[in-house]
Amino acid sequence: MPDRPTYQVIGELTRFDERDTVFARERLTPGSPEEIAYHAMHPERAEIDRRLAAFIESVNSPDQNTHPLDAAFYQATFGPIAGLALPDVVDGAVAPARVDADPAHMTARIKALARHLGADDVRIGPLNPAWTYSHRGSPPFFPDYAPNPPHFQGPPADYTGWTWGDLIKVPHRQAIVMAFGQDYRLLRTGGTPFSDLEVGRVYAHSALAAVELAHYVRALGWPARAHHMRNYGVLLVPVAVDAGLGELGRCGYLIHRQLGANLRLVCVTTDLLLVPDPPVDLGIQDFCAKCLKCATTCPTGAISRGNKVEVRGVRKWQIDPEKCLLHWGRLGSACAICQTVCPWSHPRTPFHRLVSLVAIHVPAARGWLVRGDDLVYGRRFRRAAGPGW
Ligand code: SF4
Ligand code: SF4
Repeated sequence: MPDRPTYQVIGELTRFDERDTVFARERLTPGSPEEIAYHAMHPERAEIDRRLAAFIESVNSPDQNTHPLDAAFYQATFGPIAGLALPDVVDGAVAPARVDADPAHMTARIKALARHLGADDVRIGPLNPAWTYSHRGSPPFFPDYAPNPPHFQGPPADYTGWTWGDLIKVPHRQAIVMAFGQDYRLLRTGGTPFSDLEVGRVYAHSALAAVELAHYVRALGWPARAHHMRNYGVLLVPVAVDAGLGELGRCGYLIHRQLGANLRLVCVTTDLLLVPDPPVDLGIQDFCAKCLKCATTCPTGAISRGNKVEVRGVRKWQIDPEKCLLHWGRLGSACAICQTVCPWSHPRTPFHRLVSLVAIHVPAARGWLVRGDDLVYGRRFRRAAGPGW
């Protein structure tokens, strides 16, 4: 087992501003205080941000080719979890009486509980402050936010949490990171309401699990905060890599040894005394250098076919999130092709487990496995039909 994660730090690690994510920028209502403030800082992004808004407009106004029975999936899965974003749901009062337990016993219990709540894998890692967002940018917290029905119509009257532009501080030392797999067949309908249904289902399921686990830890008398798709304080992929859940792949997702890129992540940050897991080296950096399948099948060229570059102090493959989200806007749904074509993402059959083991432990076989994946599963993405119900 390696004593450090497989990404390379080659410069000063600088925190990422959540306002710079495409998911924050796509919702900058023209003329709103946030839009004016953001584009005063980044005038070069004003035009592309107006085009990015096409995605959120499309999911709220499905095109006429989407059957109303299918269009309602988005509201059903992404909408109800808005309430899980509230500050006193992700965080809250800590029980006055602290329960102390042997860290090894506590770790085993936390992991068992996480799995019982639905996680396919769970690991404990350090929380590097460099992986916390610098400023809040998430849309549910715009003070005057209105045009996006699945989210709040602005924060509740007594809201006291972070709002757009606030500095983010996560004071905890550790992270309990959970991975939730997605239904491979539904995801392979990529770019349809059925893939959105599955993505939204797993986001909702995992968000509830994170909230429940954080509540459990606080009930033991230790601080804990849930981080999920409606309320992030941390960048989940590097936190998950540090916890040993997998490695960062070319496509920008975490690659897990069994789930591949076909997963969603949540975490609970805490000061509860737990035994950390070591980082892992699954050979993903070498495998991705040989593979490129996500890059060659991406319909927009958003995934790099070239070498790694420095991004905020880390050497990594850089993706182009603007190209990606503009494509989602044209589709009216998330695309998910890169998650499904990844050779690590295939369904967890005994055959796939065996191939993964060979890929991890026999570096010389990786080039052959890449070619074998093309032969068995095809070089191109083949969209699966919807489930028929
Ligand atoms: S989701 Fe689709 S468009 Fe975006 S990076 Fe992946 S393959 Fe490319
Ligand atoms: S598809 Fe290939 S290159 Fe892309 S993340 Fe997966 S293994 Fe890496």
